[in-house]
Amino acid sequence: MNTDFHKRIYVAGHSGLVGSAILRTLKRRGYTNIVTRSHAELELTDQEQVREFFASEEIDEVYLAAARVGGIYANNTFPAEFIHDNLAVQTNVIHEAWRNNVQSLLFLGSSCIYPRMAPQPIKEAYLMESALEPTNEPYAMAKLAGIKLCESYNRQYGTDYRSVIPTNLYGSGDNYHPKNSHVIPALLRRFHEARIEGSASVSIWGTGNPRREFLHVDDMADACIHLMELDSELYRAHTQPMSSHVNIGTGSDITIGEVAGLIAKVVGYEGTIEYDSSQPDGTPRKWLNTECMQELGWKPTIGLEEGLIETYFSYCRDLLENTQRAQSRALDVQSQHRRQSFLFGQTRSAAHNQTYSSDLRH
Ligand code: NDP
Repeated sequence: MNTDFHKRIYVAGHSGLVGSAILRTLKRRGYTNIVTRSHAELELTDQEQVREFFASEEIDEVYLAAARVGGIYANNTFPAEFIHDNLAVQTNVIHEAWRNNVQSLLFLGSSCIYPRMAPQPIKEAYLMESALEPTNEPYAMAKLAGIKLCESYNRQYGTDYRSVIPTNLYGSGDNYHPKNSHVIPALLRRFHEARIEGSASVSIWGTGNPRREFLHVDDMADACIHLMELDSELYRAHTQPMSSHVNIGTGSDITIGEVAGLIAKVVGYEGTIEYDSSQPDGTPRKWLNTECMQELGWKPTIGLEEGLIETYFSYCRDLLENTQRAQSRALDVQSQHRRQSFLFGQTRSAAHNQTYSSDLRH
């Protein structure tokens, strides 16, 4: 096992769903030398900035969890940004990591990079066997290129850059944007708001029939670190130089309708669920074959209902913290306003006195 707890690890995208889970898990497991940069501090699409960062930081290992990510709506609306930004981020990070002798890197793919009609459960070998799902093709092309970048540096320069293909993820720290979020955070928010507002029904995009697999992000982070701790001989024995990625999933899937029912139960929403079949369904089924990961000694531990309860709890906690922050901001503004009114009053009475004394002088 490759467990040097003092190696210098850069987690790219540490504020995101996956990056934050990887960061928490690395710290929990005893890794002490972790480097992070916010998006504001380091723009990963900017080659110069990435070059300077790697040249000055002496990084030993990289978890590349920074990416432009979103659901069907965001992928369909911003295809240019999805392909451009992801190609730029991964090219800059992988190339500069290699230029600065980083031997070990983990690249994050996504299950949407498998062919739309791949046989189920999807084996690692099915990559690029047929056409992609059109709604996220640009994003998927970038991710495919990321895996091929890692493999090409490994083949040409002997690096040990590994790739994982996680299934759909959820958990604390997710993006709850009303239009740009993934299935579980989007549904959690919608059911929560419907319960608070007392809405009689909730409408869901598509028919509810597509089947999806959902993995809790803490399980995912655990799997990533497990994989990076494996000796390179063992990793290579279970992969191929030009098929080096490993699936990470739960081994079982569920329909969108079933997951919506489960979320309604967790949130306590008792209205009806309607399906808007005028909206696209996306890929009919996405269920990963996880035999390789099992052979490498890992399996998930968090069940879907348990994970959803934890996620809903963290969503409510974040809402509460945001409300408290908004309230304390409002109080700040109010007290500032009072202070200003007081100062304004003082200035006015000083001005009045001055006018009065000026009047006396005349
Ligand atoms: P998030 O959107 O939650 O996080 C992305 C992170 O990357 C954020 O910290 C973001 O910072 C940062 N980032 C994005 N663009 C840039 C940039 N140009 N420069 C610097 N930082 C940037 O995404 P996830 O955590 O969900 O996804 C991470 C990875 O996991 C992706 O590669 C994705 O494909 C993969 N994955 C995710 C799945 C999921 O269900 N979420 C499923 C399968 C794979 P900021 O927010 O400040 O912009």
